[in-house]
Amino acid sequence: PSWEKRVRSSARVRSRNGISVLVTGAAGFVGTHVSVALKRRGDGVLGLDNFNNYYDQSLKRDRQALLERTGVFVVEGDINDSALLKKLFEVVPFTHVMHLAAQAGVRYAMENPSSYVHSNIAGLVSLLEVCKSANPQPAIVWASSSSVYGLNTKVPFSEQDRTDEPASLYAATKKGGEEIAHSYNHIYGLSLTGLRFFTVYGPWGRPDMAYFFFTRDILKGKSIPIFEAADHGTVARDFTYIDDIVKGCLASLDTAEKSTGSGGKKKGPAQLRVFNLGNTSPVPVSDLVSILEKLLKVKAKRNIMKLPRNGDVQFTHANISLAQRELGYKPTTDLPTGLKKFVRWYMNYYSQGKKADA
Ligand code: NAD
Repeated sequence: PSWEKRVRSSARVRSRNGISVLVTGAAGFVGTHVSVALKRRGDGVLGLDNFNNYYDQSLKRDRQALLERTGVFVVEGDINDSALLKKLFEVVPFTHVMHLAAQAGVRYAMENPSSYVHSNIAGLVSLLEVCKSANPQPAIVWASSSSVYGLNTKVPFSEQDRTDEPASLYAATKKGGEEIAHSYNHIYGLSLTGLRFFTVYGPWGRPDMAYFFFTRDILKGKSIPIFEAADHGTVARDFTYIDDIVKGCLASLDTAEKSTGSGGKKKGPAQLRVFNLGNTSPVPVSDLVSILEKLLKVKAKRNIMKLPRNGDVQFTHANISLAQRELGYKPTTDLPTGLKKFVRWYMNYYSQGKKADA
């Protein structure tokens, strides 16, 4: 295949420090930032992404161009393509996999439920099957989600809290991913670390997320929906800046122990961890809008609506003491500071004649 020559000849995945990471979902929001950070510190990095059309594909292509400039090559393919995955592992003996490819978004699950099963369940199994047979077996860090806490209203959320009431199919597939990881760890000795991200935002972000399309619609003078609970209660999110998430991802890779199996045989107990990566300071969505109004110098047209039962929960709030202790994770960017960086990126990116609603 065309990529094989590219990977072999460019030596781009060869690392200075003996670490080579396969990043799935590399052309995604988090995947782009993580890949750049890994490359910059000298790790070998190869990206994989299917460039699906869940949102603006040209944004994914522009992220890919950024990755190319940084020296990260992205293979175009699906995590369900196990022949492709096997080939990649043949060419590069990855020490780690950073698995970020997924069908994200809670509302889209009502439109296209099978894409969640395809990427978040079947795709995960396909990837773990190849990892289990690889030699060496890579340590795997994968993206779970704060959505696994579902209808649990006891905040802040701790890792041992109940996760048995998912509020969306997205949440159900992320929770399912954690159970699947458990079984591969148990049977095959794969080293697995799940990261429950809390509403990640920042430059190169996802156009389907509120902070992004609020910015677009405020600038256009369009009204924006602000949800409140049935009892007029506030809807709040533990918005977490991308650079903090990246630090948590890198610390997870660095502290991941080796898998204990090899070629599918179990040799001893392997590491299985789950961490919250949040900001521990939830902000009401109405305050998010006020911050954006100040940064954009435009008054928003607020359309206050009742929170529909379409997958969104009322609060998210991470307890991060476990990640603090085990990973040295310490978020440092508050929402006004992070949004300022996002808005600066947004104004610059969309001033180049690109359409924000493509
Ligand atoms: P994203 O949609 O920008 O990135 C995912 C990337 O994976 C996309 O580029 C997509 O093309 C690719 N992809 C999807 N299905 C694939 C498949 N079957 N094969 C190959 N590539 C595929 O989303 P993101 O915000 O960067 O999220 C990264 C991960 O973090 C996801 O697992 C997501 O569920 C999780 N997460 C994100 C957030 C957040 O706030 N951004 C919060 C919680 C969890």
